[in-house]
Amino acid sequence: MINDIQARTLLTTIKEPDSWFGLKYNLNLYRGCQHQCIYCDSRSECYRIENFNEDVLVKTNAIDLLRVELPRKRVKGTIGFGAMNDPYMPLEAERCLTRQALEIVADCQFPVHIITKSDLVVRDLDLLSRINRVYAAVSITVTTANDELAKKLEPGAPSPSRRFAAMRRLRDAGIVSGVTLMPVLPFIEDDDAALEALVAHAAASGALYILAAFGVTLRDRQRTWFYRQLDRLFPDLRRRYEETFGERYSCQSPRSRHLDDLLSRLCVHYGIQRRMPFYTPPAETLIQPRLF
Ligand code: SF4
Repeated sequence: MINDIQARTLLTTIKEPDSWFGLKYNLNLYRGCQHQCIYCDSRSECYRIENFNEDVLVKTNAIDLLRVELPRKRVKGTIGFGAMNDPYMPLEAERCLTRQALEIVADCQFPVHIITKSDLVVRDLDLLSRINRVYAAVSITVTTANDELAKKLEPGAPSPSRRFAAMRRLRDAGIVSGVTLMPVLPFIEDDDAALEALVAHAAASGALYILAAFGVTLRDRQRTWFYRQLDRLFPDLRRRYEETFGERYSCQSPRSRHLDDLLSRLCVHYGIQRRMPFYTPPAETLIQPRLF
């Protein structure tokens, strides 16, 4: 069900330096996500999103809040879209909150980083190009290049083929763009051939970088949901997960070290970076001391 809600605030400031994406601020225009990835961490109890598997909440006053909050920010840092949900889930085509928020970001000349699994992002290429006079980056999450497998794991999201095609368009427009390869599900997505195929697709799509984490994090009701989906989609795998990881939060692929080395070699081969280029503020004009 889609429900409208009112938010009290929108922009949050990130206190610690963010080593993945270089973010200074975060915003979420929706609560819940229609992509319904079976491994999604937003189901965890700590985020207090009830009915994650059914409801999406729309922050109807988000744009008014952003219009007030953003001009008050004195530090010009990168604003992250997509921490807790996908800013380009299907509903965005109709509600256009992400597009309206980007208009404000462009007017205020702030840098932006978007993380998404949807090719709907290319709808906003005009705005991203404007923002890119400062800095615009779009990380496209692809956990497998196999469209059939993705349909099982990320049932509400566009196929990886469509995501790669979107990346091509972004790169052709000069937008900083690469792949977030996370999570990589142990025993499902962590084989060499899958990684090789994914990197080849990323290279053909012009990816500047691949940010990878070879494993998945699991806790409380997120784990419960994930295991229920494993029972349905991959009978027997649940037992393997339980035997390998027990109650652990961080479930790294037993092959993670090997895959990390392989990814580094593939990236060298294709000329792809393992880190993304962050926004760097222009150097402050130095005021020369008057000597005489
Ligand atoms: S796209 Fe991201 S936020 Fe949405 S369900 Fe998938 S993992 Fe969760």
